[in-house]
Amino acid sequence: MAEPTPLSFGKLEQSAVAEVLDSGRLWRGNGVGWGSRHDSVGVAFGDRLEDAFAQWLGLPYAHAVNSGTSANEAAIAGLGLEPGAEVICPAACPAFVPFAILAAGCVPVFADVHPETLLLVPAAVERVASERTGAVVAVHLWGLPAPMVEITALARSSGWKVVEDCAQAFGTLIEGRPVGTFGDACCFSLQQSKHITSGEGGVVATADPDTYTRAVLYSSAGVPNFRFGLPVPRRPPGALGRGHTGFGHNHRIGEMQAAVALAQLSRLDTFNRRRADLVALIEQELARRNDVPVRVPRALPGATVSYWRYPLVVPFGRGTFQEIPYLEPVFQRMDTERRTPFGLPLPEHVTYAPGSCPQAERGASRVRAISVHHGLTDGEVLASVDAALTDL
Ligand SMILES: *Cc1c(COP(=O)(O)O)cnc(C)c1O
Repeated sequence: MAEPTPLSFGKLEQSAVAEVLDSGRLWRGNGVGWGSRHDSVGVAFGDRLEDAFAQWLGLPYAHAVNSGTSANEAAIAGLGLEPGAEVICPAACPAFVPFAILAAGCVPVFADVHPETLLLVPAAVERVASERTGAVVAVHLWGLPAPMVEITALARSSGWKVVEDCAQAFGTLIEGRPVGTFGDACCFSLQQSKHITSGEGGVVATADPDTYTRAVLYSSAGVPNFRFGLPVPRRPPGALGRGHTGFGHNHRIGEMQAAVALAQLSRLDTFNRRRADLVALIEQELARRNDVPVRVPRALPGATVSYWRYPLVVPFGRGTFQEIPYLEPVFQRMDTERRTPFGLPLPEHVTYAPGSCPQAERGASRVRAISVHHGLTDGEVLASVDAALTDL
């Protein structure tokens, strides 16, 4: 995990935080029915972050929340699936992805992945699909793009929705088009290790107003804090209650986080240039050390990869990748009890048995990844290359 360095946080973040503290308002507090707007200090940082993020990504709606996992949840909740719908996700990804599917009231179904990139394989998605499949979550692991053209075509012909998890892929392009803009909704994390960070935080974005409004309701305790000019339902005069129109969590982002994230977003291109330099440095070093038994997983043709970490394929059994969620004790328990932690029964064909996604398990034992965090020095990255090439 990369440590924070002076390169990561600077004057821009400091003055943004100072502005929030000086305003006396650390709570976003936007939206009709939530008391005063930020009259004295202009627009809330939460609003400014959403506007800037939507513009950066080229989507009309963005909603900032308190973590990447909350963004995953809001994206899935935004799809408006039937309760208990099956949502397919890759067998190799952080457990936060299937946790978000569970929390949104759905059943995670794992599809096997490419044994080197660990990305979703469309044929494997088809194999685990059923009549109850409602959506697919594609994860752009390492910053490598999942095959979105094939996945969206398959989803369209099957009547499924698609979520793109872009937590590790800020700025990755497929044929010049940013990942996040292919599916029905996308989510990003602003956690410490990601391309930009506010410590904790996340953003969900979409081109569809209904997906956006459902995502907002889910993350804002059912209160319709809609932005981007969308109509906010009027409460009848004299209505009782505070306007909770449905169930939702409180996953709101705070102003300190939003202010830091906004500053970081404005520096993303600079960070990404540094990350690309570190990738070039790694590739130079690998070329020099051409005696080592490693391969570099290839990205889709036509992709521009904004690496989060740089993966290497090493000899079988030497990998250090640990993120096969269904092998976690919590999924093993679900498999035995045949129900989710929220009591939803598991359909008979859904299994979390070890060995059920063999390419993911094989792949995990063959992948080591090197951090290309923009805050690292050349020397630190070269040392990690050396460590990754040891004991092979
Ligand atoms: C980091 C990450 C998450 C979770 O984000 P948090 O901000 O840690 O909740 C989800 N998916 C992927 C692919 C991630 O890398």
